[in-house]
Amino acid sequence: MGLLGILLATLAVICVALFILLFGENPRLRHGIVGKMHTLLTRTMPRVIIAILRRTIGEKNLKRLGRCWSYCCESRNPFLQIFFVLLTSVSISGFLVFALPHIPGIYLHGIHLYIIPTQIIWLYVSYYIACSADPGTITEENIRFYLDLFPYDELLYKPKDCSTCHLLKPARSKHCSMCKACISRLDHHCAWLNRCVGYNNHRYFFMFLFTLTQFCAYGLYLCFQVYRGMVIEWGLDQAYLFDRRTGKQVPLSFRKAMIHILHRDRVIGSIGILAGVITVVVFLFMIYQLYLAGRGLTTNEAFKWEVLEDAIDRGDIWIVEETQPSKPPTTNKKSKHEKNDTKDRNAVGQSIRNRRKPATSTGTIVKEHQVTSLEEIDNIYDHGFFKNLKHIFFPKPIPN
Ligand SMILES: [Zn+2]
Ligand SMILES: [Zn+2]
Repeated sequence: MGLLGILLATLAVICVALFILLFGENPRLRHGIVGKMHTLLTRTMPRVIIAILRRTIGEKNLKRLGRCWSYCCESRNPFLQIFFVLLTSVSISGFLVFALPHIPGIYLHGIHLYIIPTQIIWLYVSYYIACSADPGTITEENIRFYLDLFPYDELLYKPKDCSTCHLLKPARSKHCSMCKACISRLDHHCAWLNRCVGYNNHRYFFMFLFTLTQFCAYGLYLCFQVYRGMVIEWGLDQAYLFDRRTGKQVPLSFRKAMIHILHRDRVIGSIGILAGVITVVVFLFMIYQLYLAGRGLTTNEAFKWEVLEDAIDRGDIWIVEETQPSKPPTTNKKSKHEKNDTKDRNAVGQSIRNRRKPATSTGTIVKEHQVTSLEEIDNIYDHGFFKNLKHIFFPKPIPN
């Protein structure tokens, strides 16, 4: 197996491991081989490793290691940001030293000498903006704004307090244990940005994904065109290969000429391959994120809907329609949340319950039926593809 084979095999193993880690808890997959592999990777293997470490380095050192692990993987830290800046800076420097002297070239116009610095500056600026913008942190001062922004759907979101922030959790918000705050319309905590992606910075996250994709695609294009130029400069388009089987000379193919250059000039080729891999991975991730955003879902909600679909398959979800012939006077003392809960249900006229509960209230006509498909339940945050995207890219400004 050559170097390229080892690289491809490593890449394949990383992709499979990432797939298992990302989708292993998916309700559709968790009972199969992917779920078993997920348990092996996230529970069995760590237990075995801890047991081995306890015997080899002792309890005291194990605790120290635990603290390091918790700092690196379970709290906010700039490691991946530093890694990203280092990786891009080293790749860009390599390109400037080895590929730039070939521009302008046979296949590259001189205008690229102006486009390249603009692209580099914009990549760092967009990364800085994505890393520094507030994701939509909920505070005592702005909680009213976020509460008014999204109504509770009484399905994924019901009024309840955050046990850490001691504030009412607005619908679509979630507490991030790394950022130690509740974030409005939280999508996910992004370790590359070292912060959450939420209501206020989702657009900057998309801007950065788009910038990175087109930056890497442009880098791949430049590296390819430099190599194409080298085929001509080195006279490989005129070269011939001696075929031992036929004893004849055959013209060198373009593919073989490119491989020959890759062996002789590895830096430009490596930068081009890296740019190509990042282009594909980030582009696919961006499309998946756009698909979720267009459906009115966050990554966090997509997982919740999958859990709900699993509960529907088990027959645990019921739609309960309550109608009251005459409104009885409210005499019971209820908390603020319970009052809102009742008001919303009456306004909608129905609620969705996990498992069947018999109706107990008097004077209320109750109709209930089992949910058999996800289609029967509305996502109240889905306003149509383009409107959902408009809400992401042009959110209502947060009052100061
Ligand atoms: Zn919180
Ligand atoms: Zn976070």
